[in-house]
Amino acid sequence: MGNKERQTQAKKSAERPAQSEVRVVFLGGLGEIGRNCAAIEVEGKIMLIDCGLMFPEDDMAGIDLVLPDFTWLKENAERVIGVVATHGHEDHIGALSFLLEHIPLEIIGSPLTIGLARNRIEERGMLKQATFTQVSDNDRIQVGPFDMEFFPVTHSVPHGFATAFHTPQGVILHSGDFKLDMTPVDGRLTDLAGIGHLASDDGVRLFLCDSTNATAQGFSASETSIGQSIHDLFRSKDGQRIIVACFASHIHRVQQIADAAIANGRIVATLGRSMNKNVQLARQMGLLSIPDVHLRKIEDIEDIDDSRLCIISTGSQGEPMSALARMATGDNRWLTLHEGDCVILSSHPIPGNESSVTKVIDGLLRKGAEVIDSSTHRVHATGHAKAEELKVLHSIVRPEWFVPVHGEYRHMTEHAHLATQMGLAADKVLICQDGQSVVLSDDGLRRGDDVSADYIFVHGKLDDLDPSVLVERRVLGTDGFVSAIVSLSIVGPNVEILGEPEITSRGWVHGDEGDQIRKEAMHIVRTAIENALKDGKRTRQELERVSRRALGRFVSQRTRLRPMIVPVILGAHEGTEESGRS
Ligand SMILES: [Zn+2]
Ligand SMILES: [Zn+2]
Repeated sequence: MGNKERQTQAKKSAERPAQSEVRVVFLGGLGEIGRNCAAIEVEGKIMLIDCGLMFPEDDMAGIDLVLPDFTWLKENAERVIGVVATHGHEDHIGALSFLLEHIPLEIIGSPLTIGLARNRIEERGMLKQATFTQVSDNDRIQVGPFDMEFFPVTHSVPHGFATAFHTPQGVILHSGDFKLDMTPVDGRLTDLAGIGHLASDDGVRLFLCDSTNATAQGFSASETSIGQSIHDLFRSKDGQRIIVACFASHIHRVQQIADAAIANGRIVATLGRSMNKNVQLARQMGLLSIPDVHLRKIEDIEDIDDSRLCIISTGSQGEPMSALARMATGDNRWLTLHEGDCVILSSHPIPGNESSVTKVIDGLLRKGAEVIDSSTHRVHATGHAKAEELKVLHSIVRPEWFVPVHGEYRHMTEHAHLATQMGLAADKVLICQDGQSVVLSDDGLRRGDDVSADYIFVHGKLDDLDPSVLVERRVLGTDGFVSAIVSLSIVGPNVEILGEPEITSRGWVHGDEGDQIRKEAMHIVRTAIENALKDGKRTRQELERVSRRALGRFVSQRTRLRPMIVPVILGAHEGTEESGRS
């Protein structure tokens, strides 16, 4: 879904549902992969499910991050109690520190999820706004009017949950991000039996389920099968230095890489800030086992032979400032690649990151490294359920109503299709988008009022950049800009243009041809301003409009381009805004 459509969404404050009704408001993640955030309203109170960020798409020039729209939450701040953090991925916890600037929150999650969220919140100095509540597998807790039960699920970060909300309108089950890995690295299975009991004892009135891989056929590969393949790969790379890049939160992948390294007589060093931090956290919590004797700091590896080294690095998504990207450009301060190095990308590019990943791979190859990725080797498994796994969960949950979540529109559409294939009536499946809501009442599920759900852009210290800035950047990036500066002297009734209009441009035309075109533009602007002055136009606004029109028409006819036109009139009277329009 593009930004344009998003901005047309309703901004009005939604009506509150009746006391006995339960509403779910979707604030992000329905229509894109990222910035997952939903709100459940029970008895007038609000509990969030996740509060994540999204990484910018290719057309979002310069943007660092995209957040959910907090407008509705800020309007209802006094009713917001807390957040259930389903697991520790950035697209689920990454925006918490931004929301905490406006609303203090109780953050509820597994110890690892809390640990990862806490690190992020601390980095942005928002710890004092947060309280943390750790819950264990199958705990059932009450926070305000929210009666919540947490079921273990397998995913690409340990200790994720599906969450059941026992509400006055029955059970709402949120799957969290999950797959059905029958042989997970830590043996902690998705609790199908527990979810089955819930479904048969209480019944699930509304099911909200991860759609990421709804369009992928079959079953996902088990994480442990990837471990075996990494192991085999390590054995075949005897004598080479090995660098493996993966998600820093993928503790089980890190474990399997470390296991393969140690089994092949290699020392492990981690590289990249989030990798260092997460490995430290997971070791402290007993979730990652790498004995001290096999682990070195990256600054202490000089005396170790290449053939005995394994470096686990960040940057598997081609992020430009990451450790791996810096290796590819040759400016990683800790590691310089050379002929014979083997780099393994134990990952798959998230949609939108393909070109950055490709660029990094090219850079690594130019440095003489051998590069291995998931296109040729089994070095990665998805963390999201594919179609057959979704069917298994649907067959166990057998919900009364279903809303697909967590996906692009095509993923959610396919997931809805899959649910009806499983026997759910088409009118029991609602496809929703960001900003929409559903209300559960005695009569069933109906659509509720919309709330604001724009993309909120973060760039540098600006954490709510106006979308028009992006439109301007797009124009500048494709066609450049041209400015015309005209200086006037107005003394009583006498008006004079001082010197010639100055035409300045960037990213438009260059060289001798450019000089010629600018000269023509100068005459066009001068003539237009002279005529306007003769017509009695005197204000800056009027004259800038004349200049913009004349220059714009010339530029488009002469060059067939549409650069940004910036007219500047110096020395004219200030008019009202109205005098600038016709
Ligand atoms: Zn996710
Ligand atoms: Zn996830």
